Amino acid sequence: MPHSDRCAARGSMSWHPNSVSVVGRHGALSMATADERTTAQGPRGDETDRLDFLQAIVETTDAIVVAADAEGRIIWVNDAFTRITGFRGSEARGRFLWSFRVPEEQEPGREAFLEAVGRTDERRFESRWLTRDGSELCLSWSTRTLFDENGAVRFRVGTAVDVTAERRNAARALDLGEMLDQVGEAVILVDPDSVIQYANREAVELYRTPLKKLIGKSNRDFIPEAEAERFEKFQQTLRDSMEPQAIETDRIRGDGTVVPVELRVSPIRDSAGKLSGFVSVSYDITDQIRLQERARAIADRNAVLVRLLENLPDPVFYMRPDGTLGYANDAVEDVYGYKPEELLDGPMARVRPLDRAKHMAEFVARAIETGEPCIMETQALHKDGHRVEVEVRAVRIDDADGNYAGLAGFARDIGERKRMETELRRHASTDTLTGLANRRHFETIAAAEVKRAARYGHPLSFITCDLDHFKRVNDSFGHDGGDVAQQRFAQIVSASLRLPTDVAARLGGEEFGVLLPETDIDSAVAVAERIRRRTEEAAIEFGGRPVRLTVSLGVSQHAAGESSLAAAMKRADRALYEAKGAGRNRTCTASA
Ligand code: GH3
Ligand code: MG
Ligand code: MG
Repeated sequence: MPHSDRCAARGSMSWHPNSVSVVGRHGALSMATADERTTAQGPRGDETDRLDFLQAIVETTDAIVVAADAEGRIIWVNDAFTRITGFRGSEARGRFLWSFRVPEEQEPGREAFLEAVGRTDERRFESRWLTRDGSELCLSWSTRTLFDENGAVRFRVGTAVDVTAERRNAARALDLGEMLDQVGEAVILVDPDSVIQYANREAVELYRTPLKKLIGKSNRDFIPEAEAERFEKFQQTLRDSMEPQAIETDRIRGDGTVVPVELRVSPIRDSAGKLSGFVSVSYDITDQIRLQERARAIADRNAVLVRLLENLPDPVFYMRPDGTLGYANDAVEDVYGYKPEELLDGPMARVRPLDRAKHMAEFVARAIETGEPCIMETQALHKDGHRVEVEVRAVRIDDADGNYAGLAGFARDIGERKRMETELRRHASTDTLTGLANRRHFETIAAAEVKRAARYGHPLSFITCDLDHFKRVNDSFGHDGGDVAQQRFAQIVSASLRLPTDVAARLGGEEFGVLLPETDIDSAVAVAERIRRRTEEAAIEFGGRPVRLTVSLGVSQHAAGESSLAAAMKRADRALYEAKGAGRNRTCTASA
């Protein structure tokens, strides 16, 4: 019996002279017209049973059946009328049909009735009625007029089905559709077989497919090959869990382009709890993905940079604008003795000796001001308290807006380099055999002392020494023996000098020179004699045998007005020659 296609739900009706046949929601029936029951004409005997039967059906049908006169006054209603509207038949009879409508429909209803009552065709329409207790009804009508043999109106009969719930749902669906169109997200409804049933405006835009082409299509048509299997699994999860799920995937749009989307899908159940479809909300995540990729690229690069920094052999740090340490790599410990975390967030001044603070402050100011990398050599304070020679390189860091954001610092322990430099310098100026100054260094100092003597008017004297009969020493003790003798002589010379400004040098072979600033020739002779005597008295041994060593010396004084020591040295040489000639082991003085 249930018969629920749309046509039946609306109801339809056809006419026979004395009966009305109605196709209603619950099937087809014929009924006696109200006229037959309420007028004297009555049914003919052989039809009585049939009419009783039909009347019973009319009374039990869900459809309202109403008969009205030519003016529109109700003359008969069935039980369904009372069930649906709440008005009893006695209340309804005599009232105009349209008076049951909502107020705004009453006048148009009256006009429509009067216009239609003379017509022979069937009229279908919907009208909104008010029930006895004031709630609104939506009735779907099928009406027709029955005429007598003379063509006069006998009565007008209408059947109506209550479509209130359907219309309300439809209205709600319409509202919902409109609402969903306002939503900034693409909403799609699919049936359990993934056939699209509904798509909102945003979905049409996102998938670049006209609504007509979306509806009825399988959502699989929008899934790229590569994502098909994954999406199938996703849908299976949805079916299994019957819980909302989200997935990031790709979708092919109507124009063939691919768009990355985040889908949030909820399964929908019908009232029996069976899966009736899925509603999905799609978000275009192109921008997020781009941002994510950029963020990932930045993070990757940062990770690489941090690893690089961590593994640099030299300290790298970041000093915030307030002078605190924002970052330091592990190498700081090698140079400063502190672990990075001991220094982190503390003042950088902690590793600066007080006497270098001003120097450092100026350096930092310069780096900030110029924006150029700045380098300086300074000393840092090690955790142990000792000083470390460091080279510091600082580069100003600006933030994205170009504002000063701190300094990147690079430090290097240059203690070793400093030591090497000192060693090299010493090497370059020292005679390797004796440790005295070499000739080049002696000349440099001599030139400086000549200038000083001239500026201050101080005396400046010079002694030249030549070991006596040194060929014989070599002959008796070998070259090594000669070298030892020279070394001992150098020690004697050094020990014989009194002032730190006095300089002894090996000028070549077994010839030595002594420069005596602020010393006149008499004092220089005294020094020369001291050297001579100590040499003579020295107990030198080589290979278990005593080495006899004496020295001859020539002393001269630099004369004011002489531009270099050369003249004085020449005079001293002449005096030395004199000493040799006079029997050696003696000091001779050159007159200016
Ligand atoms: P005199 O008393 O006249 O100076 O006699 P001398 O033998 O020392 O003669 P002279 O100064 O003219 O010659 C220096 C000699 O000293 C030449 C060389 O055999 C030796 N000699 C020079 N330099 C060195 C040196 O560095 N080591 C050694 N072992 N011998 C040297
Ligand atoms: Mg010599
Ligand atoms: Mg000699």
